[in-house]
Amino acid sequence: MRDIVVKGARQHNLKNVSLRVPGERITVFTGVSGSGKSSLVFGTIAAEARRQLAETFPSFARHRLERPERPEADLIDDLPAAIVVDQRPVGGNARSTVGTMTEVHPILRVLFSRYGRPSAGLASAYSFNDPQGMCRECDGLGRTVSLDVDRLIDWDKSLNEGAIGFPAFAVGRPSWQLYAESGLFDPDRPLKDFSPGDRELLLHGSGFRVRRASRRGVYQNEYEGVVTVMRRRYLTKDPEKVRDARTREALERVSRAGVCPECGGARLNAAALASKIGGRNIADLAALEISDLIRELEAIDDPVATPIADAALAALRRIEDFGLGYLSLDRETSTLSGGEGQRLKTVRHLGSALTGMLYVFDEPTVGLHPRDVHRLTRMLTALRDKGNTVLLVEHDRDAIAVADHVVDLGPGAGANGGEIVYEGPLAGLYAADTATGRALREPYGLKAAVREPAGWLPIRGANLHNLRDVDVDIPTGVLTAVTGVAGSGKSTLIARVLPERHEGVVLIGQGAIGSSSRSTPASYVGVLDPIRRLFARAGGVDAALFSFNSAGGCPACGGRGVVTTDLAFLDPVTTVCEVCEGRRYRPEALEHRYAGRTIAEVLESTVEEALTYLTEDSVRPGLERLAEVGLPYLTLGQPLSTLSGGERQRLKLADRLRETGLVYVFDEPSTGLHPADVGTLLALLDRIVDAGNTVIVIEHDLDLVKRADWVIDLGPEAGRHGGRVVFTGTPAALARAEGSHTADHLRRDLA
Ligand code: ADP
Ligand code: ADP
Ligand code: ZN
Ligand code: ZN
Repeated sequence: MRDIVVKGARQHNLKNVSLRVPGERITVFTGVSGSGKSSLVFGTIAAEARRQLAETFPSFARHRLERPERPEADLIDDLPAAIVVDQRPVGGNARSTVGTMTEVHPILRVLFSRYGRPSAGLASAYSFNDPQGMCRECDGLGRTVSLDVDRLIDWDKSLNEGAIGFPAFAVGRPSWQLYAESGLFDPDRPLKDFSPGDRELLLHGSGFRVRRASRRGVYQNEYEGVVTVMRRRYLTKDPEKVRDARTREALERVSRAGVCPECGGARLNAAALASKIGGRNIADLAALEISDLIRELEAIDDPVATPIADAALAALRRIEDFGLGYLSLDRETSTLSGGEGQRLKTVRHLGSALTGMLYVFDEPTVGLHPRDVHRLTRMLTALRDKGNTVLLVEHDRDAIAVADHVVDLGPGAGANGGEIVYEGPLAGLYAADTATGRALREPYGLKAAVREPAGWLPIRGANLHNLRDVDVDIPTGVLTAVTGVAGSGKSTLIARVLPERHEGVVLIGQGAIGSSSRSTPASYVGVLDPIRRLFARAGGVDAALFSFNSAGGCPACGGRGVVTTDLAFLDPVTTVCEVCEGRRYRPEALEHRYAGRTIAEVLESTVEEALTYLTEDSVRPGLERLAEVGLPYLTLGQPLSTLSGGERQRLKLADRLRETGLVYVFDEPSTGLHPADVGTLLALLDRIVDAGNTVIVIEHDLDLVKRADWVIDLGPEAGRHGGRVVFTGTPAALARAEGSHTADHLRRDLA
């Protein structure tokens, strides 16, 4: 395979970067966050690979695709077809499980159709996504959502007083008119005084039409009771998928999800569940931890069944090799962490023995305990040895060590980065006078003095997921690191159990920011409106002109700056709007200037630049918070959808930085952070603690663990072999502890 050649790359902050990426080798891209690694690897190399792939589609498909944008570069040559394995959440609906995603569940279905007794029929009779196999009560979801009528209806109120507590039925809305203005009910009578017949009619009536008169005319409507409407329109939906925040909250208040009474959560109908192998049905097998399922399948000895079981075993062993043996096939993919999802996606690719490809990974060590990093590096070298070119963006010392070739970007972030500061073999990086070289040579030591806890948050008898009667006290007023191998129970204990039992716990995760594609860092921290008002005052016009969401927006792209085409069978394709050239505004808005800049130019400034000319009290504090959380290199107008998980997390933090007396929980805040950035993060966490808060980090990065005041280590292993507290104490005491993988690795790191 030939080397990949890139000349004159200028995507985002890249400064005319040229490089040669060796074919059939592992190249690791390093550098502080914001230095331009993603712009080079994903924005330039992988983006061009995808564009070239689109060119090979038949012209009818290409026509519908729109042309993906060519990355800003003079030349990108000798690109193989690329597979990008990123950390975007696997997501998926309630029908997507680890078993369906890894394609192991279909194999089990074949196994049951041939070998299960009694057989339920063919393979689709065992599929919870197929009418032949699914439980009819829950449509194969395993859950049913029921309505709590007493939370929906305020019986003391009348219809006119808003007795139906749900946004769609608010006084004046069409759905409310159906009851209050149809003449069927007395709209001023409290519902508790309705006759039983009227109550029944209000809640469950159907099968006739009503007329209602309004100012605009007389309407005929099909009548449906409140509960019937709720069932049909809302209860079939996953509340998290409901866009409107008020409706979503109301739905969560009035509905309760429970295990389906018919199938007991197994998703399948009685015929499928009656069919067994070795005393277990297919749902029982899907509920086992994968490591246990492997042993079940290995025990099968039958000329028909063994070859089928072997096909499943090959895939299952790859999952276990990756340290994910604690997952079960029935786990919904939407509940997986970003790191788990990325590793599962990788497993799926490894199954297909492709060669001559370009594989691109985004920080694949995320979520991996130091003990398990070698599993990942082994997989990467295997991919390379099959004849593939492997690129990864990484910060982890042990993962960097797998590199055949290193490209170090810097020297700083944003406008201060975008250059290659070292390129060559790994050994040279350790000697290089760059932020990465220095960090590798000078690791952090233990903190000299730890803080004393101000008090304790007790947890007693925690049993969720794999936790086994966990009793633990979490110190307040200090920085605590919660450690343990992936799947040991860290998130279950800290992100699920702790907030249920103690108030004032704020989770700052890396999940999507629940906002539209038009949100930006500036709007998120609330400085966009003040900026618009500055423009409006300076130009003597209405502030709405400077809103790309309304009057000021480019009509061609609706103010998005890009046009996205959704495709059923591929990732959506995004192209820059040809009319506004990505500036989002209509020309009238761009005629006005403030501090010598148009509104589009202001949004193109980085936070750091903006701080030099936006000095007003209405804007400055918000910008300062962005800089403080380590995001000075973001532009004010960068779509939030382009941020990495770690950046999203720090942005959420920027929004809350003013509050005190809280317990902040961060899930792997070191994600996306170079060792040099970890120092900045630690300074920030220290400041939050010193302002009178408690900070808990779920972490694998030993640099962070070493600088904590207290450590809670879970384990000893994952899944049902974990779920216990194996150590609590200071980092110095952890370094002397026995029986903890984290302790072993801490000692090795300090040696
Ligand atoms: P890294 O991967 O090293 O953290 P990035 O390549 O993500 O760095 O970012 C480099 C610079 O490019 C930063 O200043 C960042 O704000 C900017 N940038 C990244 N993505 C976009 C985008 N989609 N639009 C505009 N600017 C971007
Ligand atoms: P960690 O945070 O240490 O990686 P988790 O708390 O995510 O570990 O997982 C602990 C155990 O609980 C694992 O066996 C995992 O499969 C299980 N688990 C976690 N989340 C869920 C969930 N939403 N549904 C079912 N099981 C879960
Ligand atoms: Zn069911
Ligand atoms: Zn436009």
